[in-house]
Amino acid sequence: MTEELFRQDAYRRHCQARILELVADGVVVDQTVFYPQGGGQPGDTGYLTCADGNRIRIHQTVTEQESGRVLHMTESSNALPEVGEQIELEIDWDRRYRLMRMHSCMHMLCALVPVPVTGGSISDGRGRLDFDLPDPLDKETLTRRLNQLIREGHPMRLRWITDAQLRAQPELVRTMSASPPQGTGKVRLVDFEGVDIQPCGGTHVVNSAEIGPVRVAKVEKKGRQNRRVTVVFAEGGGPDLGTE
Ligand SMILES: [Zn+2]
Repeated sequence: MTEELFRQDAYRRHCQARILELVADGVVVDQTVFYPQGGGQPGDTGYLTCADGNRIRIHQTVTEQESGRVLHMTESSNALPEVGEQIELEIDWDRRYRLMRMHSCMHMLCALVPVPVTGGSISDGRGRLDFDLPDPLDKETLTRRLNQLIREGHPMRLRWITDAQLRAQPELVRTMSASPPQGTGKVRLVDFEGVDIQPCGGTHVVNSAEIGPVRVAKVEKKGRQNRRVTVVFAEGGGPDLGTE
């Protein structure tokens, strides 16, 4: 099993690791700073540096369904390190930090629309959540309130509870479509103090102020009972995507 260092510290950009296995298009290591795709958040990209200095591009990180192994997918199979070799792993930090900011912004959005979440995903520079909501939402109002929550600078703390404690507090779970990672006996709660608390396995900033200015780019009606809200970074510009 791979120890996932980002669970405790999402700000770690690199680490030493040992190669446990070589697979068809990648490697399995004993510990990593690479977040594997999941929970609506893309997998990390970056570099693996071998003992001899050879750098290998990692273009995707995924968790293999059946085995639970974290696979670091490499761009070429040339000159891969050997099993047992000590290597260095480094993520594309700028991209990851944008993903952390946008992911954290989705927690702010969750707090502002207090109805069940039916789906969601983030990509570089953009995030969306689907809400079980028959009524329309106002883009400008949401944008203003989101930025207010962000500017208020709410600290984020991680807390761990047991599976049994989570079952006793089902109201903590906001997402209907994806149940939080369970089975290890422990569930990680992400607590943006005074704003939002829920089980989440993604990577987050430690203070909402780090998210920076954002803009609700689009509110769409998806089915009779669903509203999809898309958020982008305000400084990123980008076209206004209109409304429903
Ligand atoms: Zn989260």
